[in-house]
Amino acid sequence: MSFQNPVFIPGPTNIPERLRKACDMPTIDHRSPLFGQILHPAREGVRKVLKSNSAQVFIFPSTGTGGWEAALTNCLSAGDKVLAARNGMFSHRWIDMCQRHGLKVEIIETPWGHGVPADRYEEILAADENHEIKVVLATHNETATGVKSDIAAVRRALDAAGHPAMLFVDGVSSIASMDFRFDEWGVDVAVAGSQKGFMLAPGLAITAFSDKAMMATEAATLPRTFFDVKDMAKGYANNAYPYTPAVGLLNGLNEACGMLLDEGLENVFARHHRIAEGIRAAVGAWGLELCAVSPEVYSDTVSAIRTPEGFNATDIVSHAASAYGVAFGTGLGEVAGKVFRIGHLGSLTDVMALSGIATAEMVMADLGLDITLGSGVAAAQDCYRGNRLNADKAAA
Ligand SMILES: *Cc1c(COP(=O)(O)O)cnc(C)c1O
Repeated sequence: MSFQNPVFIPGPTNIPERLRKACDMPTIDHRSPLFGQILHPAREGVRKVLKSNSAQVFIFPSTGTGGWEAALTNCLSAGDKVLAARNGMFSHRWIDMCQRHGLKVEIIETPWGHGVPADRYEEILAADENHEIKVVLATHNETATGVKSDIAAVRRALDAAGHPAMLFVDGVSSIASMDFRFDEWGVDVAVAGSQKGFMLAPGLAITAFSDKAMMATEAATLPRTFFDVKDMAKGYANNAYPYTPAVGLLNGLNEACGMLLDEGLENVFARHHRIAEGIRAAVGAWGLELCAVSPEVYSDTVSAIRTPEGFNATDIVSHAASAYGVAFGTGLGEVAGKVFRIGHLGSLTDVMALSGIATAEMVMADLGLDITLGSGVAAAQDCYRGNRLNADKAAA
């Protein structure tokens, strides 16, 4: 058994020592002002990370999937219509959840590797003259394919169509790693989890609701108990939860937001972009291709890498684990066996990324792929060094 870090799965991500310590705390009374001193700053930190002035942040002991459920059940009623693009495993699973809750989903089938088609959203919204569509769903970063979508463009589609539908965004693998603008993009509910960009263990669903989404809770009749944001808001007003909160994780979340804001959000995003560019340079040097079809959709948090026809990409993941104790991500759904994934989000540096690239090379060479050892490492080194030299020049 290997507990070696870094891991290169797209979540859970590496946990910095500072956050492990922050989560490890003595028991406190979770219905006391002391708890409020953890809860409220954590919510405030999340709001800053989302670049929002007014979002109401609700944090549930759950995971990202629970955050989806909180978004749907608080704002919608059975039979309501939802518009969503399906371009990967995570968008697929959110759509499936909508259907299980008795929502009608108009699905825009989108080839995996592409981003959500804002133009199609606009056409459909413009044609929906009776405004039957209550919510538009968009997955900001499709973790299965390593594809980033343009949420600002989805907002423009809603505005161009003059449509009042709410905009719900799955930001589980983007928030805290890639730029996310809750207010500017007019997002109504954003969903994240503790174990990706926030660098914590799994266990928290992190959600943010706009005023419009809070208003929608008044009329929404889907059953909700555990995920009821109104119960939660009442609890928060008394420094408490309607049930027992995950105190240690919340303390960690507060600390994580502090780390992100200390580094500077723009620096965090630039670091993720730089590390991703190095990974992509390596992929190019290996003569392999990404599942993401074009640079404007390349994700800065995860790369899904296509392997040659006839080769089972999952072997890379199993061999990396058994031979070197390193974790990469497998392909999911439609691209299972066709891609392997390198997660490069959260607590990661250029140097840590190089170790993942070097390991992937050894693994692929072991498995008989035509990979020159060091080729991807050198390409990434050029990328990271070039960046450093440019920064030095700019500072001089
Ligand atoms: C990880 C992930 C989820 C699911 O989150 P869980 O915390 O595993 O429930 C949802 N959406 C995206 C885009 C993800 O990356």
